[in-house]
Amino acid sequence: MTTAAEWKAKESEYYIHTFNRQPMVIERGQGVRVWDTEGKEYLDFTAGLAVNNLGHCHPAVTEAIQQQAATLLQTSNLFYTIPQLELAEALVENSCMDKVFFSNSGVEANEGAVKLARKYGRLHRNGAQDIITVLNSFHGRTLGMIAATGQPAYQQAWLPLAQGYANVPYEDLDAIREATTDNTCAVMVEVLQGEGGVNVPSEGYLNGLREWCDENNLLLIFDEVQTGMGRLGSLWGYERFGVEPDVMTSAKGLGNGVPIGAFMCKDTCDVLEPGDHGSTFGGNVLTTAAGNATLRYMVENDVPAHARKVGEYLESKLEGLRQSRPEVVKGYRGMGLLIALQLQNPIAPAVVAAANNEGVLLNPVLPDAIRFMPPLIITEADVDECIEKLGRALDVATAG
Ligand SMILES: *Cc1c(COP(=O)(O)O)cnc(C)c1O
Repeated sequence: MTTAAEWKAKESEYYIHTFNRQPMVIERGQGVRVWDTEGKEYLDFTAGLAVNNLGHCHPAVTEAIQQQAATLLQTSNLFYTIPQLELAEALVENSCMDKVFFSNSGVEANEGAVKLARKYGRLHRNGAQDIITVLNSFHGRTLGMIAATGQPAYQQAWLPLAQGYANVPYEDLDAIREATTDNTCAVMVEVLQGEGGVNVPSEGYLNGLREWCDENNLLLIFDEVQTGMGRLGSLWGYERFGVEPDVMTSAKGLGNGVPIGAFMCKDTCDVLEPGDHGSTFGGNVLTTAAGNATLRYMVENDVPAHARKVGEYLESKLEGLRQSRPEVVKGYRGMGLLIALQLQNPIAPAVVAAANNEGVLLNPVLPDAIRFMPPLIITEADVDECIEKLGRALDVATAG
């Protein structure tokens, strides 16, 4: 049997070194748990980076994938296919959006949304082409989206940046107003910043953006790649803020583990035409079959409502950690089952390493913040287990 050390050696020999990985080789998953090659079990509060919202190998999704794999794997968008149209219909029926286009990832969904906004600007706002985004955001890693992502650390090595993006301070409506010019066609934000450290906007921010966009004929684009598909305790994050976008993107949880993304729009900005956009794999029958099974299960079982309830329970337990260890834990922030624990010191990597040993997977989203993004199907008992293990990990990481 190949050992974990041998797999690690292969990684450094063969794989381009862009990831600083946790030391385990994960081999198998079921529900809220995964197992590594040494047979060690972990409670998984990372869920494939907010992807496995129904847990690992959910039977409804696995069955849909198996059936589709034995029926047709790919035929391209030269033809009509059933799973693609069923998923498009289901997304429209379960959101404020009217039209859907499928991509293979979150970043591609955002690229498509920006193309749509630029076409809208060309047709309906005197040729305006620029997009306003905010600092500390995350929209993905293509050359276009690193210009949209307001984090200099992701941008500086790849100059020159794609043109047409203004990154302005977060939660600052005046900054949005000042950055708006005759050449602006859209404002793009996450409803709640995920990779930026789980930052919840203050009351009125998204409403203010909505009003500004309406007054100026700008499209409001919500990047719901991380916040959608139940993560915030409603099917879409915008529902929790009571603000509807014109354009919305989704990906991570959409296929419960298969690579699929989507951008969606209202009829009022459905401006793309044949030749404007395309994708070989986008809307592929395998990924959309998985998406159908995921969305159907999520809606029929009201998984978002469950996520909301368990999320509140998790927050109450984090409050307990804060009270029992005030010198280590500063607080927590988030919504639904996307929550970050704020630490007093930049020890998140050490805490996560200790948590690995305890058997719970967590994500050090910032040096001083640990992100929780478990499968939405977790129970209160799973939360109790996580908190008990995390408590020990905090003690280990701060001992001596
Ligand atoms: C993860 C993420 C992306 C990028 O998605 P990929 O599938 O990795 O391309 C974009 N936006 C947000 C908000 C994300 O969380």
